[in-house]
Amino acid sequence: MELKIYHMYPDLLNLYGDLGNVTSLRQRCVWRGINVEIVGFSMNNEAPLEDGDLFFIGGGSDRGQNIVYSHLLNYSREMESLIEDGAPVLAICGGYQLLGEKYIDAEGNDVPGLGIFDYHTRSEEGRLIGNIIIKNSLGLSPETLVGFENHGGRTYHEHQPLGQVMVGYGNNGKDQEEGMVYQNCIGTYLHGPILPKNPHLADYLILKAMERKYGLKELSKLDDDREFSAHDKVLQLYAP
Ligand code: GLN
Repeated sequence: MELKIYHMYPDLLNLYGDLGNVTSLRQRCVWRGINVEIVGFSMNNEAPLEDGDLFFIGGGSDRGQNIVYSHLLNYSREMESLIEDGAPVLAICGGYQLLGEKYIDAEGNDVPGLGIFDYHTRSEEGRLIGNIIIKNSLGLSPETLVGFENHGGRTYHEHQPLGQVMVGYGNNGKDQEEGMVYQNCIGTYLHGPILPKNPHLADYLILKAMERKYGLKELSKLDDDREFSAHDKVLQLYAP
């Protein structure tokens, strides 16, 4: 069995340890005997998107975001049909903003997004920075997800959030909601990187990919003591 993990724009989108998410996905597959091929999709490697089993889009500076947005716009239809077809996608911060209609940057310029979802993001006064803890809406156990956020953009939408904010800011610092879930596509502001400290979320994505490709219903268990000790440390330090 093999999964092709598409790492979208690894040269332009990679903030606050985002690369660790791809490492975590790969390693958790390898431990289970699932072969992994990592495909770096970018301007100089436009590998066919429909070959991908799991997609990761990291965060980026406004500059990186601008470049990526105009390039990926050429593939918005392909991305949309993959999402509709249940392909798992994890999009962090700038990547999450990209899936919406537009990002309005600090100068007030509209940067058009893929428009797959009917939300937009506006850069507002003051950055939302710090450790974040949310209660996930996916039914995963444990119910907490931990991470680190650093964004000027505020996202507003009516979709299912990834979770409710317990500590931190989330989508906009106002409505206590964090991220977005649609089919198996997850958008979130949680950097950190998110997956090594939240192995239950990593496995959720891997299982969705294995289910879509091979009809698998369950993954073998791994020893996650270390991963959860990192997760629990954040709870110990910052949970109310
Ligand atoms: N530039 C975007 C913002 O500040 C995204 C930042 C990020 O990906 N961390 O909202």
